[in-house]
This record gives sequence, structure tokens and C-alpha cells, in this order.
Amino acid sequence: MKYISTRGNAPAKSFTEILLGGLAPDGGLYLPEQYPQVTRTELDAWRKLSYADLAYAVLSKFATDIPAADLKAIIANTYTTAVYSNGRADSDSTQITPLRTLEPGVHILELSNGPTLAFKDMAMQLLGNLFEYALDKQHEELNILGATSGDTGSAAEYAMRGKRGIRVFMLSPNGKMSAFQRAQMYSLQDPNIFNIAINGMFDDAQDMVKAVSNDHAFKAKYKIGTVNSINWARVSAQIVYYFKGYFAATKSSDEQVAFSVPSGNFGNICAGHIARMMGLPIGQLILATNENDVLDEFFRTGVYCPRGSANTYETSSPSMDISKASNFERFVFDLVGRDGTKVREIWSRVDAGGAFDIRHTPYWDALPKFDFASGKSTHLDRIKTIRELWEEYGVMVDTHTADGIKVGLEQRRPNLPLICLETALPAKFEETIVEALGRRPERPAAMEGIENLPQRFEVMDADVAKLKAFIAAHVPQ
Ligand SMILES: *Cc1c(COP(=O)(O)O)cnc(C)c1O
Repeated sequence: MKYISTRGNAPAKSFTEILLGGLAPDGGLYLPEQYPQVTRTELDAWRKLSYADLAYAVLSKFATDIPAADLKAIIANTYTTAVYSNGRADSDSTQITPLRTLEPGVHILELSNGPTLAFKDMAMQLLGNLFEYALDKQHEELNILGATSGDTGSAAEYAMRGKRGIRVFMLSPNGKMSAFQRAQMYSLQDPNIFNIAINGMFDDAQDMVKAVSNDHAFKAKYKIGTVNSINWARVSAQIVYYFKGYFAATKSSDEQVAFSVPSGNFGNICAGHIARMMGLPIGQLILATNENDVLDEFFRTGVYCPRGSANTYETSSPSMDISKASNFERFVFDLVGRDGTKVREIWSRVDAGGAFDIRHTPYWDALPKFDFASGKSTHLDRIKTIRELWEEYGVMVDTHTADGIKVGLEQRRPNLPLICLETALPAKFEETIVEALGRRPERPAAMEGIENLPQRFEVMDADVAKLKAFIAAHVPQ
């Protein structure tokens, strides 16, 4: 299996060749040359597999240059009960992603039972093990530099802690995260994890990461890499749970389902799109946004108009406060018939701060056959959804999952079973849960009192020279 760029101007590469990199050299994102197809016979056989065996069945179609025994071992190490039992006491952690049925035909797929209580662990844990494996083989080291407003940074740190050959330099806005999120990250004492609290906002931290990444000499000398959501291995790992959720919600592979997906960077739902392109019988993919509704707008109107960080609202589902969806280009590549020249033309406008409009093009006519629906959810909607689920089913969901459920119930076609992807546990967003329910969410036992643990972090002004000096001082030459 070879990977090509969405902008059609980069040499094809193998899975391990693109594993540690980010963008393709032409500025595009990598995708498989062709989506591997899953036969009906395979679907029937996969239905019975454990999560780890299913993950191997799916990922061996993508990671074709990792020897089978090695890939199997990496996956078996990743998707174990030991890693995914941080969630609720009443979850069946042997399933890794248990399906919770609210009523016949309406389900929640639990994806937040990993170490940081958000679905990002599902892919990031695999990435940590794949990185360690690849670096070991190449006798190489990697220094991961990232900026986070919460979930991605902690998922990356918990995936990379203690890994050979890897250091993590994670920037976060000083004093802007919740006490819980701060404690999750800053209490890590592993010597390969460096938390840097920037005196500024998330965007300032993000700009510092971009500035360092654009200094190609520094980047090469200090072997700087990233783990952001455009990483192909992350997307591929997320494909697996669409299969798992489908099998858990159906009795036969003749049935179709709908998935509803709380979306920001379009990474999670992109994996659903690819699962469907592989042959998984997904009837409808329902995209849910919060008040930052740039993706909802596209699916409703055909206009994609990124808003810029100054026009991004701070909401109570903060992990979706994104107005430029970094994985969206992958879907658009398929929408325009995999025409890299067309994607290059469209994104030359987006990269210059502009928008695009497919309304009066053949792509608007092609869109319905991909069968997406979309909608948005506001603060009041999510409070109402959290309340209703608690009152009707005794189930507590987090703010992002509530957005997905609200839009999913609104948009699904009748008779299509609905699987709502749970993207985080309510314990991560205590404040809004208290606002909705007047009570605090349950917290996994391992996380009781983490706010009281000693914290280890560096406070820094938003100064690129200082960041470079810090990295240089902590990377042995
Ligand atoms: C990252 C995240 C999302 C958005 O996922 P994308 O892949 O960026 O679309 C939604 N909810 C939570 C809790 C997240 O952490």
C-alpha cells in the first residue's frame, strides 16, 4: 500500500515512511492510493473478533510494510484492558469500546476509557507504540513539539511517556486550561515530558510551534516532529472503532447504521468516511459542530469559509473550537474525484485566508452520494441534552458528546440505528456538568485528587528564541 498526497505533487510513500512526518512535501495530506476493500466474507468473519484482532485485520491493510508479527504485537500491546479501563465502573472494558444502548436503535459508542478520558487516546496510544518501534529500528530519536488547549496534549503525553527515543515539548496557555486538565499534564514526572506554560493564548502557543517548524535548519538539527491530527496513522487507527461499533449495533452485515460524530478538525469523521469507502455499511455520517459551525455550513450550503482564530468562539465544548478543519482536505480530495490539481487550486485560496464555494460545480451534485448530514449545537442545546439523557436514561455525557447526540437525533433518517460517538468523559468538563445537573460528574478512581499532586512545568513568555533555547538545552547533542 502506497500513500499519495491530496495535492498530487509528491512521490508515493509507504506507511512507515509517512509515519513520523506531517504534511506531504507539496503541502497536501497523505491518503492511500486506493482504499482497501472489505469483502462480505471478511465482514462476517470480523464481526466475531476482539478489538485487538479487529484492529489488526483493519490496520494490516494499511501498514503493509510492517512485518505481520511486529504489527500484531504492537496492536496487542495497545488495545488491552489495562490501558482502556480508566472509564466508568459499569463499562465492559474487555470490549475496549463498549456500546451503550439508550433505547432500541440509539447507542453511544464509548471511546473515552483510555488514560486521558478522551477518544484521542484510541489513536494516540497506537501512535506512541508505532513511533517507538520505528525509531528503534532506525536508531533514531524524535522530539515532538506541539501546542494544546487540552485534550490533544494530554493524550500525546500519556502515549509518549517513558518511550525510548522520544521527547515531548508541549506548549499550553498558562492558566487557561481547567484545573483538571492542568493536573493531568503537569503532574507527569517522566523525564521525557516537558510541559511549557506560555504566557498567552492557545494561538500564541500554536504560532510558536509553527515558527520553530518553519526554521528548517533547527527542525532538522533537533529532529522536531509533530503528532497533530493530520497524521495518517492516527486517522487509520480511528477507522477500527467504526467497524467495532457497527458490529456491536447490528446482527447482520445486511444492516445499515448512522454514526454521529462531534467534529472539529474533521479527523474522527474522516475515519468514518474511509471506513464506508472500504465497504462498511454506513448509511449516513452525521457531522455535529458547536457554535463554531464552519463544517456544518459547508455541508448545508457548499461554502467552506474558515473563520480565522479571531472569529473563533470559546464554547463549553472547547475541543471543537476550531474554524479551520485540518483534515477536511482529505474528504475534498475524494469529493473532487481524487484530482490533486483541483485540490491544489482550491487550497491555494484557503491557504491565503480565503474560502471556496462548490455550489455551481459538479461537486455539489456529487456531494449527496457521500451521504453526510450535518447540524450544529449551542450551549443551551448541550445543557438540555445533558439534562435529558441524565433524566431519561441515568446516563451522563460530556459536552462534546452531547453536541453529537443532539445533532444525531435531529438528522438521522428514520429506521437507521444511530451510533453516537462519545469523545470524552464528563469528568473532563466538570463546570458545565454542574451547570446542567447541579452535581459533579463521577471521576475514575485513578484520577481522584490529581489536582493535589506535585506539578512540573516551565512558564515561558511567547518568545520563539526562548523556546528554541529551551529545546536546545534539553536535547543532548
Ligand atoms: C478532538 C476532539 C473532538 C474533535 O475531533 P476531530 O477529530 O478534531 O473532529 C471532539 N471532542 C473531543 C472531546 C475532542 O477531544
